[in-house]
This record gives sequence, structure tokens and C-alpha cells, in this order.
Amino acid sequence: TAPLSIFDPALWAAIEAEGRRQEGEIELIASENHASLRVMAAQGSVLTNKYAEGYPGKRYYGGCGEVDVVEQLAIDRLKQLFGADFANVQPHSGAQANGAVMLALLQPGETILGMSLDAGGHLTHGARPALSGKWFHAVAYGLTPEGLIDYEQVAALAEAERPKLIIAGASAYSRIIDFARFRAIADSVGALLMVDMAHIAGLVATGHHPSPMPHAHVVTSTTHKTLRGPRGGIILSNDEAIAKKINAAVFPGLQGGPLMHVIAAKAVAFEEALQPDFTDYAGRVVASAKALAEVLVERGAAIVSGGTDNHLMLVDLRPLGLKGNEAADALERAGITCNKNGVPGDPEKPTVTSGIRLGTAAGCSRGFGPDEFRQIGHLIGDVLDNLRNGPDASVEDAVHQKVSALCRAFPIYGGTANV
Ligand code: PLP
Repeated sequence: TAPLSIFDPALWAAIEAEGRRQEGEIELIASENHASLRVMAAQGSVLTNKYAEGYPGKRYYGGCGEVDVVEQLAIDRLKQLFGADFANVQPHSGAQANGAVMLALLQPGETILGMSLDAGGHLTHGARPALSGKWFHAVAYGLTPEGLIDYEQVAALAEAERPKLIIAGASAYSRIIDFARFRAIADSVGALLMVDMAHIAGLVATGHHPSPMPHAHVVTSTTHKTLRGPRGGIILSNDEAIAKKINAAVFPGLQGGPLMHVIAAKAVAFEEALQPDFTDYAGRVVASAKALAEVLVERGAAIVSGGTDNHLMLVDLRPLGLKGNEAADALERAGITCNKNGVPGDPEKPTVTSGIRLGTAAGCSRGFGPDEFRQIGHLIGDVLDNLRNGPDASVEDAVHQKVSALCRAFPIYGGTANV
């Protein structure tokens, strides 16, 4: 049969162009990363053909002997990585993982307490347009004026609303989260604590962020952010009764057949994350974020909460008189990809915003470190200064050339992907 490039040239051209885009641009989207060729090989394997409803040793389909091995490897490695007693590797995504926890532990209409979307929480933590906000009585906590999680507000809301589930974890929060404090609040009102460590999982796995495992009743995550695996979700617990409910909620509660090819790719990523060089990588991610934040402050921007302890930062552009959407567009023209993001108390609409969210996980996967991120900080500063003075395309072009040179010096796949 003809290879994809011949059979479907239009699709192949788009895949190749995306490969060139990833190689040629600096990826600062905090939720993205560049998975290894090994991860992609597992995901592109024959495992995509296999139905395996159920769990290892307890399937509803024949022929599951080999996929049982695959899923058990993923489970065992994941438990080792985070020091967990129970692990479910089947959620198709982070949203599915969070949905499964709610299905397992809550009845419709019960109260959940999570971080508000505006403050950096995720849609699945109780936002109005999401299932979590429609099917539950969702109450939200936010940040102090300094941009830190307002633990006193969490405690006060917990006391007033008596939630069944408290959710800690965020999509745009740059500081260490105090999981012990969340657990103490949960215990004080008899609530369960779910930690969604999607963004920081790779940092937790390597000791660069305190682990939620000793504190949370249940921990969810995605596998594709700082953990650098395929796109997907996971659920962990140290409580056997909760783990049983979670397994039943994932299948048959919420999903059908597991994506065995993705589970294989997760197993590869967990093995990679267990290697010493992944710990070095995660350390570089954190050091690089600090370096980038320092340069951006030097260049006149503000960082929400004053800095970062993890892989990301929320840049408040108001001191520069710029909007998030125009900054993200200008940076994209210069070969730097990020997303516009509301800042706490943002006066602008979500389609405009006053900020951008930047992360270092993807850049560090191609070999960047603090030195390169200091350079990148100045390139961003040049683009933003140029935008303030009325954008001059030649300045953006000059930055783009420097971006291209940096990318050429640090290839992601060395020209070997998609071949
Ligand atoms: N939880 C958090 C904290 C996230 O940041 C995200 C994704 O951005 C998710 C859950 C959802 O993950 P997915 O996009 O895989 O459904």
C-alpha cells in the first residue's frame, strides 16, 4: 500500500508543515511539550487496533494478553514515579480524569470547591460552561491581592459551603501549592481533597515541587505537560476504597475501550521520567522559568505573584500598556508561540486579556537552559517594545532570524520525526 505521503498528500503536507513549525519556532505554551520519538513510536504502533475494555486480567475481549502487559507496565511505573498505591492509566485526557473522580465520589448537585477560572483554575474545576459547573454546585476560591492562593478564603468558603470535594491545582499558577494546608481545610469540614497536578506532574515526579500524594485522597493529572508524555490523563490514590470507585467510574462509568497505544506511550514516558536525566531536565525547566521571569521584569513587564517557582509564569502587560492578544500575535509573527491569558482582576475581555502565559517545559526539552531563556526574554522584550512604538515589521523579522538561529542550534528531533 502507498505510504501516507503518497496516499494523502494534503494531510501529509500539513503534518510535515507542523513538524517544521515545531522545529522552527520557540514553544512557550505552558501546557505543551515535545514528546520523545520513543513515545511517538509507541503511540503509532499496532496497539491502536486493540479493544481492551476492562483492566489487566479482567477484560471483556479476547486477545488481551499482550495489552495486559503494556497496561501493567504503565501502572507499575506510574505508581513508582509518584509513590502511589493505586493508579489508573486509562483516562483519555485530563478532563476525563477529573470527570471520573466526580462520577466516582459525588452525586449531581453536591458542592465542589475549586479555584476560579479567572484566578488560574481549570474548566473542569467547576467553571460554569463545563460539566463540573453545570452538574454540581460549584463554589470558587481565588487569589490574594499579591497573586497567591487565598487559603483563608478557601477555609472560609469550605466552612460556609461544606463542600464534598475540594480541588487544588491550576492551569496558570506559578507558585508552590501548599497541599498540606488544603488537606487540613478539607479535614476540618469532612471534605475529600482532589489535587489536579496536570501542569506540575513532571516537577512533582522529580522532587521539584512537593508531592500531593501524602495529602490528597485522589490525584489527577495529564501526561503531556511537564511530564512530557502523550496527550492523556491519569488518576492516583493511596486509598483502596477510593481507587476501586475510580476504576469503576473510568470504565464502565465514563469511557469505553482504553486507548492502548496511548497507554503504551504513557508507559514509555513514565520510564523516561524515572531516569536521572529527567530530573536534570525538570531542574532546568524551573531554573529557566526563573531566568525568563527576571529578564521580563527587567524589560518592564510584571509577573503575577512577583515570580515563579515552577515551569510557568503569568506576565502582566499592563505596565507596558499592552494587551495580551496583540502581544501574543506579535510574538507569533516573530516565531515565538504563547497564549494570551487573563491576569487576576483583568479589566479586558477573555478574547483580549492583559497578559500572556509563558512556560519553559517545551523549550528545555530541545535543550534550552537558563542562558537561552535569558536570550529569549530579551527577544520577547524587543518584540513588546517594538509593539509599544507601533509595530515595525523589520524589528519582528530581525527577532525571527534570531529565533530561527536558536532553533537550528537546538533541534528537537534532529530532522528524524515523521519519516
Ligand atoms: N487540569 C488542568 C490543571 C489543566 O491545565 C488541563 C489542561 O489544560 C486539564 C486538566 C485538562 O486536560 P485535557 O486538555 O487533557 O483534557
